[in-house]
Amino acid sequence: MGEILLKIENISKYYGSIKAVDKLSITIKKGNIYGLLGPNGSGKSTTLGMILNVVNPSEGSFEWFEGKLNNHQALKKIGAIIERPNFYPYMTAIQNLKLICQIKKCSYDSITEKLELVRLWDRRNSSFSSYSLGMKQRLAIAAALVNNPEILILDEPTNGLDPEGIEQIRKLIKLTASKGTTIILASHLLDEIEKTCNKVIVLKNGKKFYEGPTDQITQTHGYFEIGATDLKKLKLFLESIPQIQQLKWNDPFYHVSLNEALSEDKLSQLLVNETIFITHFVKKQPSLEQEYLTLIQ
Ligand code: ADP
Ligand code: MG
Repeated sequence: MGEILLKIENISKYYGSIKAVDKLSITIKKGNIYGLLGPNGSGKSTTLGMILNVVNPSEGSFEWFEGKLNNHQALKKIGAIIERPNFYPYMTAIQNLKLICQIKKCSYDSITEKLELVRLWDRRNSSFSSYSLGMKQRLAIAAALVNNPEILILDEPTNGLDPEGIEQIRKLIKLTASKGTTIILASHLLDEIEKTCNKVIVLKNGKKFYEGPTDQITQTHGYFEIGATDLKKLKLFLESIPQIQQLKWNDPFYHVSLNEALSEDKLSQLLVNETIFITHFVKKQPSLEQEYLTLIQ
């Protein structure tokens, strides 16, 4: 775990005066499901396009697999769906996947397994044109996985699907991740990211707005950032406060999340009473969820 699969450094894409992506840096580590969250036009698809060599960056750089592989080898370890699924309409699922295997120069060996994974094995001999949108999307996922990539990239995979179709894609993403595939999922839906991903990167106007674990999104009581000269003493004391749910060391301060309301005044008074000398003390009020809802309005 913790192996770096992709490192994006200060990447930008300008279309004339539009900054689609603006000095974005992201590190993708193996074994996670990353949500790339942001309202329409925030730069998600452009970012994915750049790392997949479909869009040329205006500046900055990215590196796959710590630079150990050349571009061609690297692309073979990446599965991606960044457009609406596009297959030959009169060919069956099996025939379409065989064609994909020929294009990707991989064997047919995993076709059965992937069709079972996406629950299309029973419909393997039906023509693509007879599929529902959800089935088409699932076939696209099977196609992206047919060469057993290390990382799967999906851009808004549930757009246009009914609730059942959405649920199936979510389950499929989690199942794929549980088999060891790292995933990057771009979506404008907070709910989708919350239900599917363990890490989230929020984009706003092409810039990184937030990055962190998904479970911090809904913390509605806000959180504190606290640093002190005596960190040991600070930690011991904070651990004794019942309103504090979790302490995370976020160098050079603690990220202190709350499970109950606790005001700035109250906590600072408590710290003064303990003669703890504070070097950093910030209350971040709204949860990311509230902030995101404001952002997309
Ligand atoms: P998202 O996927 O988050 O909806 P995009 O990456 O598609 O956002 O777009 C980011 C911004 O870049 C938007 O303002 C969009 O209009 C602009 N943009 C994207 N592609 C192009 C293009 N080919 N030409 C001009 N502007 C573009
Ligand atoms: Mg997009």
